[in-house]
Amino acid sequence: MVEKCKIMIAGAGLGGMAAAACLLMDGHDVEVFEQARELGEIGAGIQISANAMHVLRHIGVDAELAEQAVRPEAYTFCMGDTGEFVQSFALSVEHEQAHGAPYFHVHRADLHAILVRRVLALKPGCIHLGRRLASYEETSDGVTAVFSDGLRATGDLLVGADGLKSIVRQQMRGSDNPVYTGDSVWRAMVPASKVAKEFDIVEQKLWMMPGGHAIAYFIRNCTIVNFGLVKKKPKTGEESWTTRRPWEELKADVEGWHPAVQAIVDAADKDACFLWALHIREPKSDWSTDRVTALGDSVHATLPYLAQGAAMAFEDAAVLTRALRQEASIAGALQCYQRNRYERTGRVVRESSENGRVFHQPSREALREVFANRNMGRERSNWLFSYNPWTVELT
Ligand SMILES: Cc1cc2nc3c(=O)[nH]c(=O)nc-3n(C[C@H](O)[C@H](O)[C@H](O)COP(=O)(O)OP(=O)(O)OC[C@H]3O[C@@H](n4cnc5c(N)ncnc54)[C@H](O)[C@@H]3O)c2cc1C
Repeated sequence: MVEKCKIMIAGAGLGGMAAAACLLMDGHDVEVFEQARELGEIGAGIQISANAMHVLRHIGVDAELAEQAVRPEAYTFCMGDTGEFVQSFALSVEHEQAHGAPYFHVHRADLHAILVRRVLALKPGCIHLGRRLASYEETSDGVTAVFSDGLRATGDLLVGADGLKSIVRQQMRGSDNPVYTGDSVWRAMVPASKVAKEFDIVEQKLWMMPGGHAIAYFIRNCTIVNFGLVKKKPKTGEESWTTRRPWEELKADVEGWHPAVQAIVDAADKDACFLWALHIREPKSDWSTDRVTALGDSVHATLPYLAQGAAMAFEDAAVLTRALRQEASIAGALQCYQRNRYERTGRVVRESSENGRVFHQPSREALREVFANRNMGRERSNWLFSYNPWTVELT
């Protein structure tokens, strides 16, 4: 077991906060360095399945989350224009009974705020804002984080939770040359009261068309509908949550889609439609040195078609914590952590990309045929939702 050590985490996003909480709870001394001057998350929904909920439960935030979360009845796939039912699987009691934790739809800002409160309760003052990691220096005795303002901090271990454009990953493995996939994703949030007629079942709905799909689900006690539209299009946005694009462009992108999709777009705030250009990165197999590692999007960024990016960061946090318990040295723990995460996170990246191909079939007939041979609920239950990062054997 690695005795109490000083751990520096770069990035106070969802992954960084989950890791900070897990490591503090195990008695480590944790400091978090975040580049932003204010803490926060963007206005969007996020799905949290049982595999990720095990981590939030361990951290002790599941009850507070449940007060605002929505527990969907089902996940329903349908045709993007006619709304014809294609397939559905249960997410409510069935998901919890099968996997020992619920499936939640939550507001990202609510989830992030809850995690931040928990981390600060465990160690007041441990989150340092306006600290952008610029590089690190590693010796056999320790690691020094160097920030863009010239300040430095030292510790036994540095964890890069610094997201897609990770400095830790770039220093360790060089640039990863992200490539635009050809798909961009719109996001918007709509007051549920404005689309009550079209959207009256508490479920996750996914509409599929050639070259695109749309999703919608309730968040924050069913007061908001979270909407996303993936569309094949020339790159007009950036790889960012905060690039606003004209509502008229979104409206044009849903031409011919089902009236429920149109209704959501019509009800959207015209000044708050955001477009993210989805890029793909080659997954890395090796993201640790003796004293530096990384988690979440910084090492295995995935397309959002399986809704598992943050879930993977939460699982990483749990497995890293367990590896430090299990191994005698930090270097050994980092190898154990990486060894036990590589295959699973790689599979999530691959299957997410595969879902793009499944959802964006060229015709109605092709879509029906693909789904006739797939049982999405059973498949995801078998390997994805059933994983518990606290109990899975570490090899
Ligand atoms: C459209 C869309 C929908 C999604 N839906 C889901 C979903 O339903 N469920 C799910 O599980 N996942 C979902 N995801 C994926 C999820 O959003 C990400 O995987 C998750 O946010 C990654 O968390 P992270 O902590 O690794 O990185 P981030 O959330 O990006 O956090 C990184 C943090 O590091 C900070 N930072 C960056 N660089 C530095 C630096 N040099 N120094 C210090 N700080 C730094 C950033 O400011 C940020 O606070 C979705 C993604 C997209 C695009």
